[in-house]
Amino acid sequence: MALAEGLRKIPALRAEVAEAPPLKALHDRLDPCEEAVFLIEDTLVETPPATLNTPGVIRQGVSRELDDIYRMSREARDYVATLEQVERARTGIKTLKVGYNKVFGYYIEISKGQAGQAPPHYDRRQTLVNAERFITPEMKEYENIILNADERILEIERRLFDDLIQSLRQYTPQILQTARAVAHLDCFASLAEVAAREAYIHPTLTQDDILNIRAGRHPVVEQSLGQARFVPNDCTFGPAQRIHLITGPNMAGKSTMLRQVALIVLMAQIGAFVPAEEATIGLVDRIFTRVGAQDEIHAGQSTFMVEMTETAHILAHATSRSLVILDEIGRGTSTYDGMAIARAVIEYLHNSPRLNPKTLFATHYHELTELEAILPRVVNYNVSVAEDGDQVIFLHRVVPGRADRSYGIHVAQLAGVPKAVIQRANEILTDLEQQGSDFALQKHRPASPHQISMFDDSRHPVLDALQALRIEQMSPIDAITKLYELQRLAGER
Ligand code: ATP
Repeated sequence: MALAEGLRKIPALRAEVAEAPPLKALHDRLDPCEEAVFLIEDTLVETPPATLNTPGVIRQGVSRELDDIYRMSREARDYVATLEQVERARTGIKTLKVGYNKVFGYYIEISKGQAGQAPPHYDRRQTLVNAERFITPEMKEYENIILNADERILEIERRLFDDLIQSLRQYTPQILQTARAVAHLDCFASLAEVAAREAYIHPTLTQDDILNIRAGRHPVVEQSLGQARFVPNDCTFGPAQRIHLITGPNMAGKSTMLRQVALIVLMAQIGAFVPAEEATIGLVDRIFTRVGAQDEIHAGQSTFMVEMTETAHILAHATSRSLVILDEIGRGTSTYDGMAIARAVIEYLHNSPRLNPKTLFATHYHELTELEAILPRVVNYNVSVAEDGDQVIFLHRVVPGRADRSYGIHVAQLAGVPKAVIQRANEILTDLEQQGSDFALQKHRPASPHQISMFDDSRHPVLDALQALRIEQMSPIDAITKLYELQRLAGER
């Protein structure tokens, strides 16, 4: 019925589509499949049950056999429904009732006091404390009809339904072709609706090897933040600008920027409007991405192995017409290994004549920004922040130039990492910055006595008490009592 209902809408849809010449090809593929609709609607009731295990699927008039069973079943039910009234009147027994249970089926029940007045053709079947139960041959006959009818109805309806399916098979190609056309229309309509609602623009597509996005937005992040709070960003690639090296603090918006550029290019190439004020998109042959860390431990690959496998794939297959986005290549291994790999990848992308794709490369290795001076087609960008006292304000604006800090500790603090850890991290950071890049961690001064005392002197008595417990020797009651005690102790401090 859902299929028929859907197909019934096709003529109206066709009429709408006919008014849009670019949709001509789709229009021609929309087939109302009228014969299939008639077949379905002539066979099934308007609102059939959800499964064939419930009777009432097939319309009246389709099968004489089925109609007869329904009629007999209806008559039998009417008989049972009026039985109580009829028998009370016939016997004059006011307490007479008709009931049903799984063991005896339908029965007539009469209270003990009046059971003696039961007519002779009543057959006694059961004696209860206060009542007697009877059956009559006639009511058993009707009961048989009711019980058998359901079974037969299910059987016949299933057969007729199968016949319907078989007859519909011949329309399969038209139905599928129509379904696909409707799916396409659904997709176009959705893209059109979102374009209108979110003020997307018509991108200019070109064969030139350029990319120019003005005030681009991330279509999904923008939805969750609200358009007013999302900061749009520009992105420009030309023959002389091939690799954008994007640095910037954690949480600044580097990944968002990378993904939004890839999404805008993808949307433009599938024929959608794009979230930007202006966009000129040079057609790309492929979009390669190395973003996020999806563990494939189950496939016997570590996070870093996956990162490198994907990088290898990109380096092997990208061309000068590809768009490549690389988010923090090298972060999965030690700093020096990671930085070395990241730099070598950038150099390879830049220098290999086969490659030289448009590349967005986000990284926390600020040392890599030196590459701008060495490789002519590398340009530094950073996602800016403003500092207000010890507050960091994320501006989410991509601007030319390099970032020099990551503010990672600040983000750790925002995330709720304990104060002692944050303080100690700041201390280590200061040392690292003073000692320069050839600093070796083992040479680093130990945590200050003050820090040690923060952990040791302030040791909470609950900790000592916990450590002294001999849990294996405690009964559950002891354990509960001890728990209460510890909680009280914790409250005192
Ligand atoms: P990390 O270096 O920690 O991976 P990141 O620089 O890649 O961080 P994103 O993950 O891109 O940062 O963004 C962090 C959050 O900042 C996003 O979830 C989003 O809420 C917000 N954000 C990112 N870009 C913008 C933007 N252009 N305008 C407004 N908010 C943004």
